[in-house]
Amino acid sequence: MDTLVRTENLIMTESPFNYADHLGPKSIHHFYEPATGLKAILVVDNVAAGPAIGGCRMAPDVTLDECFRLARAMTLKNASAGLPHGGAKSVIMANPEDEANKEQLIRAFAQMIGPIEDYIVGPDMGTNETAMGWIRDEIGRAVGLPPEIGGIPLDEIGATAFGVVIAAEVAQEFGGPKLEGARVAMQGFGAVGKHAARFFAQKGAVLVAAADIQGMVYDPDGLDVARLVEIKNRGGSVIEYEGGEKLDRDTIIAVDCDIWVPAARPDVIREDNEQVVKAKLIVQGANIGVTEGAERMLHDRGVICIPDFISNAGGVICGAVEYAGGTESQAFEVIEEKTRANVAEVLGRAARENILPREAAVKMAEERVAGAMRLGRWK
Ligand code: NAD
Repeated sequence: MDTLVRTENLIMTESPFNYADHLGPKSIHHFYEPATGLKAILVVDNVAAGPAIGGCRMAPDVTLDECFRLARAMTLKNASAGLPHGGAKSVIMANPEDEANKEQLIRAFAQMIGPIEDYIVGPDMGTNETAMGWIRDEIGRAVGLPPEIGGIPLDEIGATAFGVVIAAEVAQEFGGPKLEGARVAMQGFGAVGKHAARFFAQKGAVLVAAADIQGMVYDPDGLDVARLVEIKNRGGSVIEYEGGEKLDRDTIIAVDCDIWVPAARPDVIREDNEQVVKAKLIVQGANIGVTEGAERMLHDRGVICIPDFISNAGGVICGAVEYAGGTESQAFEVIEEKTRANVAEVLGRAARENILPREAAVKMAEERVAGAMRLGRWK
């Protein structure tokens, strides 16, 4: 009776077709499994280039709107990386800290997406390689797998960070600072940040500031990256570093440096604080670390800002190499080759057409998706 009453009172106010545009989404799925309480959404945005790869996010408050926007971002990221994969994203509405129920939810989710063969799931916030192992066990496909079953541990090897540093290297040819001796500030010292600091140091750059959730350490003469990585690897904070000045974590935005790397949260450089940025190059590890408005303002005062989905595609490229049966060293080769080509194309086009790097990147990605769509049957 309850169910009937509820059904009668339910009104669909918004049509999912409101999202439809020239690229997609191809399909939107809502899953509910009463026995486990699974509630999940999958948006398969575009599959013209091949089966879509996109992470599965687990969080209590994720929405269809967020899932759609993340799926579209994956379409653009995978197309600009030149991968034979379209874009998708899935979300499971649950608390990722609730370990007791997690495996059951993930396995139930796997069964739901099993028949949707043009979706290949990868890890995202709230899921990890073990979760991908459970999904592979259920339905035979997933990327970002544990090494025991052929996975390449992308966070352990620093796949995304490697691409970030290659992007900075290419920017040198377009007016960016020389990496040798460049002063780098790193916001976030996790999977992306600590490896990016390591790769920058290998190129002769000097880390002058590092922040994590607890605070910031600053030394204009340079921080010892190996010591910082060791502190983080044993679960500590950058503020436990001996030496340097300890400051409030958000002051890193105004640090005197040549290269600034967001590798933590979204929207950290915005219209209201971009004025304090002193760097000449911003190369994004985080997703949407800089708002679009701030990117324009930075561009207008000569700061190069490499779009996030161009500089942080190393992780998904690594996932695609893993899916194709490749090895760790092949993953590094492919990340380098694709990131070099894409950053050069984006910055070159931005200069030629006098547009923002982000506009050039979106155009490039959309042209590639459109090119793939023209090869399909439906035109
Ligand atoms: P992580 O959880 O391993 O590390 C995040 C780091 O940021 C931690 O050191 C944390 O202490 C720090 N942090 C959190 N809030 C902060 C704040 N307000 N100020 C300063 N530091 C703060 O995460 P990650 O995998 O390194 O990802 C970092 C960012 O990069 C995220 O935005 C993620 O979406 C993006 N990204 C990651 C990958 C990947 O391969 N891991 C790929 C693409 C994009």
